[in-house]
Amino acid sequence: MYYRQMRRAQGDPPDAETILPRQDAERIAEVLHALAAPNRLRILARLSRSPCCVADITSAVGMEQSAVSHHLRALRHAQIVSAHKRGRRVFYVLRNDQIRTLLNTMTAQEWVSAPARHTLSRRSLTVTYIIAEPCIDVKDKSCIDVCPVDCIHEYDRMLVIDPEECIDCGACEPECPVEAIYPEDALPDKWEPFVKINYAYPDVDLINNLVDQYATEHDVQNTPPAA
Ligand code: SF4
Ligand code: SF4
Repeated sequence: MYYRQMRRAQGDPPDAETILPRQDAERIAEVLHALAAPNRLRILARLSRSPCCVADITSAVGMEQSAVSHHLRALRHAQIVSAHKRGRRVFYVLRNDQIRTLLNTMTAQEWVSAPARHTLSRRSLTVTYIIAEPCIDVKDKSCIDVCPVDCIHEYDRMLVIDPEECIDCGACEPECPVEAIYPEDALPDKWEPFVKINYAYPDVDLINNLVDQYATEHDVQNTPPAA
């Protein structure tokens, strides 16, 4: 009786396909199924900090390498993780920031222990990396080789990071011989103009003009480090 009254008050129920199409529901269920194992969540928690190889994951989670490889295969199959070859090593990386967001949401719950909450939530979800003044006219490209998602791009006088694609892994930062790369929230104030320059990606003319203008105004005279 109550149900019939409610239906009359609300009109016809919405078509189930307009709530969540079946194929989308199936895809979400597939992802949740792939995530629903404690060891996979631990592997993803390690990958949410930075891309790494099987050996790094094995030592971080304290599992057998064969077991880690098995879980990584399942996570790749579900398109949650991707693999990138660097030299002779294969690095694994979260395919997108939504998985990191999901992990952070789940680990922020009160039923998760306080140390885990702190560890997993301390990284900002919105930070990206910025290339700043020391790269101008240096461009040795050490950073490009280590970027797992190929989001560092070359322009006339410097390189910039595509802020949409950067997954905040931090792999490029220690590779730069002139300390030109910073997380956006740690960029020295004097290099604030480089936020605009990196965010101008992919506009070639705008980036080149902004860099020229900055270099002239600040009399930039960088020289590449000795080989
Ligand atoms: S630009 Fe740097 S921080 Fe961003 S994804 Fe590439 S290597 Fe990682
Ligand atoms: S490693 Fe540093 S100096 Fe070299 S291209 Fe990358 S940002 Fe520029």
